[in-house]
Amino acid sequence: MTKPATTTDASPAPKRRAPKESVDPQSLAPPAPEANGMETPTKPKAPRSWPDEPDPRRKKVPEGLWMRCVACGETLYRKALEDNLHVCTNKECQHHYRIGAAQRVEQLCDPDTFEPMDEHLSTGDPLHFTDLKPYPDRLKAEQQRTGRSEAILTGSGYIQGRRVVLAVLDLTFMMGSMGSVVGEKVTRAIERATEQDWPLIIVSSSGGARMQESTLSLMQMAKTSAALAQFDDAGGLYISVLTDPTTGGVTASFAMLGDIILAEPGALIGFAGPRVIQQTIRQDLPDGFQRAEFLKKTGFVDRVVPRGELRREISRIIDYGGK
Ligand SMILES: [Zn+2]
Repeated sequence: MTKPATTTDASPAPKRRAPKESVDPQSLAPPAPEANGMETPTKPKAPRSWPDEPDPRRKKVPEGLWMRCVACGETLYRKALEDNLHVCTNKECQHHYRIGAAQRVEQLCDPDTFEPMDEHLSTGDPLHFTDLKPYPDRLKAEQQRTGRSEAILTGSGYIQGRRVVLAVLDLTFMMGSMGSVVGEKVTRAIERATEQDWPLIIVSSSGGARMQESTLSLMQMAKTSAALAQFDDAGGLYISVLTDPTTGGVTASFAMLGDIILAEPGALIGFAGPRVIQQTIRQDLPDGFQRAEFLKKTGFVDRVVPRGELRREISRIIDYGGK
């Protein structure tokens, strides 16, 4: 277990973080290709494979009001995209942009019903870990940049009138990586749901376990899984929502333990990344490998749900679950 975990967790190192502090979808997209896009006169048509999509005309679009979709290349009115829950407004594309935890909570919960919990928890540095800079410095920089204390938001709220405990991983903070605080907050959220007998919803988006906390991060996989087992014994209902990307130790623990597992269209879901797997097994991977639709076909995911339907789908499942 240790070996693949290390491999995966090496990739989401937060040093490549875009400097923007807002949850601008483009800042969460992979780094743009070289600016000299003029060398590629014929733009390859690949509507859904948004990573590394060359976008030669992008520079001409003024920042702010308008943006170019990273998936289909269509010019989008930014406000319309926001109103559409950060899903591309081009009907044929509907690319789901990555969003931060606060936005997700706002989209899922009934207005003003979310009450955060355990916000005081903060991470120590028991291993005195230093990569390019000491871990405490890195944390502080992330906290200042995002205004958030950790890579997760937990609390209780209502979804279409149904009381739930909600935990949302935040990709904007150190790539949503799971250290001891993320694991602890997930565990406390599960315990709260167990005590209150409320349905539990966890929305995952993560680069995996946080390498700066090494084994302590890996232990969170066991801890959260154990808490979920108790929740299950108590008859709790857990709906896991996988969003782009859900990888590493998060996939290998609570993200895959839902009674019902939903995923957003096109989301990358896996343990190790496709490139690592390809290099290891030296074989071409099938089309759509590790995408939500592929995992639906292979049985890992119960249903692929567009973002606009998530609220309704979750409340329907809660009603079916008799909660
Ligand atoms: Zn699009």
